[in-house]
Amino acid sequence: MDEGLVLALDLGASRLRAALVGPGGTVLARSEAPSATERGAAAVLDAAEDLLRSVRDPGGRGSEREGDDDARRAAGFPRRSPLAIGISAIGPLDPIAGVIIDPPNAHPSFRDVPIAAELSRRLGLPAFLDRDTNVALLGEHAFGAARDVQDVVYLTVSTGIGGAILVGGQLLHGPDGTAGELGHLLVDLDGPPCGCGARGHLEGIASGSGIVRAAGEAVRAGTGGLLRAAADREGIDRLSAVDVAAAEDAGDAGAAAIMERARAAFAAAMVTIVDVFNPTLVVVGGSLARGQGDRLLGPARDAVCSAAFRTPGRRVRIVPAALGDDVALIGCLPLVGMRLPDMTGNAAASGA
Ligand SMILES: [Zn+2]
Repeated sequence: MDEGLVLALDLGASRLRAALVGPGGTVLARSEAPSATERGAAAVLDAAEDLLRSVRDPGGRGSEREGDDDARRAAGFPRRSPLAIGISAIGPLDPIAGVIIDPPNAHPSFRDVPIAAELSRRLGLPAFLDRDTNVALLGEHAFGAARDVQDVVYLTVSTGIGGAILVGGQLLHGPDGTAGELGHLLVDLDGPPCGCGARGHLEGIASGSGIVRAAGEAVRAGTGGLLRAAADREGIDRLSAVDVAAAEDAGDAGAAAIMERARAAFAAAMVTIVDVFNPTLVVVGGSLARGQGDRLLGPARDAVCSAAFRTPGRRVRIVPAALGDDVALIGCLPLVGMRLPDMTGNAAASGA
């Protein structure tokens, strides 16, 4: 895997990004465009093809950044061809068939899109797909916070909450590919609605969207003076989780209650995760987790100490992610390494 180059594609909710990823997870070239799933499958596939060609054929449409040219030279970037395409995408998806099923807020034509087969045909390379959180976990496992650890749970806390599970060095997919959707752990029987339609899920309380929903309710109910001021300034529909966290820092009791509930829900979910999966390591990424740091992870560690089963609670370490925004691009390298036989001359070490 260390010798190969792969083309990486990250289809997110708002951005479509492509990169050429080389040894050690180095990003050698990159390009991006709006995600545009609302414009339909054909438009997304065309845009993905264009981006992948632009990073594969530097000098063509040349959209790689200046700094990456240096990385390319430093890595002794050879004029070798990539071995395969790794694709990270929002779910739900079928990782083995390489099909994106029906992402939220997408155009009606964006259903059951065989993105791996289609990009494989267009670029003339094998292509492999997995959910963004699974690819991120593979990236952290290969190059980040989870190196040399075989039993890992990954959580990302930002607008939504996603997760992924590595058991004995293997991704846990389940028969439908939905294993590890940890944002939908039930943490409060009487809790608020979640984006998935159910109530009381972790994501509905502890994600950016859950925090914003609670802040809107607080403003409408007349609590939270600083939240009220932020809502007046920006419009109640434009409040962000960052505004709520800032209001908490400035001493707003309503905002503090919302953030404390989010952290408590996250901590409760962590207890369940540790008890169910007995991980050696839990890696927490995402912009909201990055902003909160130990304010989010500290209560989760405390809850595991006091409320998880003693043996797995003593073992587990809960740490921040190491790779940042490029994690899903970098993770495409180990994704291909797991799925493409003979990438290094060896058979693929791990199954699908
Ligand atoms: Zn849910």
